[in-house]
Amino acid sequence: MRLRSGALFLVTLAALAMLLGSSLLAFDAQAQSQGDWIDVHFHLIADKGNLESFDEAAGTALQIMDTERIRTIIVMSPPRPRENFDIESLAGLVKKYGPRIVMFGGGGSLNPMLQKAGKSPEVPEGVRRRFEETAHRIIASGAKGFGEITAHHVSLSPSHGYESVPADHPLLLLLADIAAQHDVPIDLHFDPVPADVEKPSNLSSPQNPAVLKANLGGFERLLAHNRKAKILWAHAGADPVGYFTPGLVRELLGRHSNLALSIRPTAPFPGSMVHPEGAINDDWIAVLRDFPDRFVIGSDSFVVAKAYTGAEAPRIFEQRSEMQRRGIRQLLSHLPADLARRIGYENAERLYRLND
Ligand SMILES: [Zn+2]
Ligand SMILES: [Zn+2]
Repeated sequence: MRLRSGALFLVTLAALAMLLGSSLLAFDAQAQSQGDWIDVHFHLIADKGNLESFDEAAGTALQIMDTERIRTIIVMSPPRPRENFDIESLAGLVKKYGPRIVMFGGGGSLNPMLQKAGKSPEVPEGVRRRFEETAHRIIASGAKGFGEITAHHVSLSPSHGYESVPADHPLLLLLADIAAQHDVPIDLHFDPVPADVEKPSNLSSPQNPAVLKANLGGFERLLAHNRKAKILWAHAGADPVGYFTPGLVRELLGRHSNLALSIRPTAPFPGSMVHPEGAINDDWIAVLRDFPDRFVIGSDSFVVAKAYTGAEAPRIFEQRSEMQRRGIRQLLSHLPADLARRIGYENAERLYRLND
């Protein structure tokens, strides 16, 4: 009897030790991953079809990832006004470097179609069909979502386009349905404007119109159109226009369950999430705490290949990318550990289905 209870004691002791060991291990793994993140919004820039140049840019990005503790990047074309490179220039990188590099498609193909069609509310049947076929082909080619797409994009330099279409344009509603069907997100650049306003003085690029038109109604109709379509609203925290505020984001998150946002925290504007001088905006932090499952990180980093011959805007943005990543490091170390993990990578894994 005594022997049996002695054995039982030993077994219990061993089980306890194992339990303690595994929870210590789990604790250790969590501590080690503290500060890791996934970058859901990253631009590699090279001339369309110059695969060697894209590979060189990917190599630079992988080095950045190693030093910055970025587990995965999602690469995509910026939202182009005219046709440009798209998944045909990125698919080889995914094959070679996946799962560290994931791609989205449409910025250089669907978005130009949308901007062109956006000039009129009627969409010719041929255009609609081509848009739909392209969207399905993007997903069939291995893209994990659509991006970068825009409904309103202000110009930040003379070689950086101004783009505007109603956010509830029929082609965007169609894209929402296709995204829902494939269960993939749409990465949407949308500079919100609550009421018609004269162009703010900091938007000096001649490409911007004199008056920016109210656009929130269309955006909410897009969000409500198909609740299964995940809309990933890009660039929370760094708004050049002035209306992408914590208050607006809180309101829209409350009303639209299919809305999530990627954080680009740093800008030299009042109201940015992390000011370049280091101050962190408490109103933004309060929204992150109240909606811990609805934010991911998207640095909007640019890496430009040496031989790139296109417009100069990407090289200007490349120089600002380090500042953005510094703001992200600062933000993640400011947040409580569990929130930093969720926003850093857990939410991205879930919303983008990165582990499927
Ligand atoms: Zn953007
Ligand atoms: Zn972007």
